[in-house]
Amino acid sequence: MAEDTCLSLERRIEELERTVRTLTEQKNREELLDLPWAGNLGSWIWNVPSDTVICNDLKILNLGYAKQEIPDRIGHAFFTDLLHPDDHGPVMDQMRRHLAGTDAVYEASYRIRHKDGSWRWYYDRGKITQRDAAGKPLQLVGIVFDITKQKLMEQQLALQNELLQQLVDHDELTKVLSRAALFRFLRSTHDRCVQEDRSFALLMLDIDHFKHINDSYGHQVGDEVLVQLARLVGSRVRGADAFGRYGGEEFMMVLDGLGMQEAMQVAERIRITVADHAFTGGIRLTISGGLALFQGQGIDELVTLADNRLYEAKRSGRNKIIGPR
Ligand code: GH3
Ligand code: MG
Ligand code: MG
Repeated sequence: MAEDTCLSLERRIEELERTVRTLTEQKNREELLDLPWAGNLGSWIWNVPSDTVICNDLKILNLGYAKQEIPDRIGHAFFTDLLHPDDHGPVMDQMRRHLAGTDAVYEASYRIRHKDGSWRWYYDRGKITQRDAAGKPLQLVGIVFDITKQKLMEQQLALQNELLQQLVDHDELTKVLSRAALFRFLRSTHDRCVQEDRSFALLMLDIDHFKHINDSYGHQVGDEVLVQLARLVGSRVRGADAFGRYGGEEFMMVLDGLGMQEAMQVAERIRITVADHAFTGGIRLTISGGLALFQGQGIDELVTLADNRLYEAKRSGRNKIIGPR
């Protein structure tokens, strides 16, 4: 009898040792898994029928709340009530799409209000882990990251990109549109006019005898004249049009939605404005121009046409605009 008891106790100990080994292995595996899967604020479990959220305290402490301020029972509204108004709708949509089975996971980045009124960015990802017999979701498990730092960096980068684009789009000396920006505008206007079967005008302008201004007054004065001329002509440009520096002392204007006669009038007005203006030190100058009307040609062909007319204006005496005849 005593031998029997000993044997059964030994077996029981062996069994318990096996169980402890298994549990320890399991725990080790979980800890290993936890590291990459827990998110930097931890994980959450949402029991759907009782609307109870069990989450790592960090998810709440990170929003400026003290441990004793964390309610005993947390429903999902504890978090959704703190969402940024612009993010509330999209986050709810994401969750609805997952609950409805449209999306395989629930995934959302959103701003959530810190106790001090500032916004933190959270990245949330979770999925349904248990359903009832009818397939209705019972439980969701997810992880959450604070991505505020990354978002701030993203915003700074976007701002820097905008500034860089501004630099690329504008001529360093005269601050009017750069050649690259001009051609981008030209290409988009061309595409639009091809689609809508309508016309636009391209005007090439070149300062007459500019070399003489450099030779007589020096390059710095020449530069200042270029700046003043760009400002003068630029101030006459309508919002729908683009004006920029093609290169050297040559400028280009894209006149969107104008017919030949109207475009000729605009070009003439610009020519007269320049001829009537006294530049730095009382310098007077004139410009010549070539005007081409888009009538189905490609961009290169159109630029060449305007260029040829500009040279015609130069050959035939300068201070004039030559357009289509
Ligand atoms: P035309 O009436 O035939 O156009 O005569 P032009 O002297 O204007 O023409 P040309 O092409 O012989 O000379 C253009 C001059 O423009 C030469 C160049 O030094 C000057 N130029 C081009 N870019 C700049 C610039 O950024 N600053 C200054 N100061 N001069 C420039
Ligand atoms: Mg010139
Ligand atoms: Mg020139």
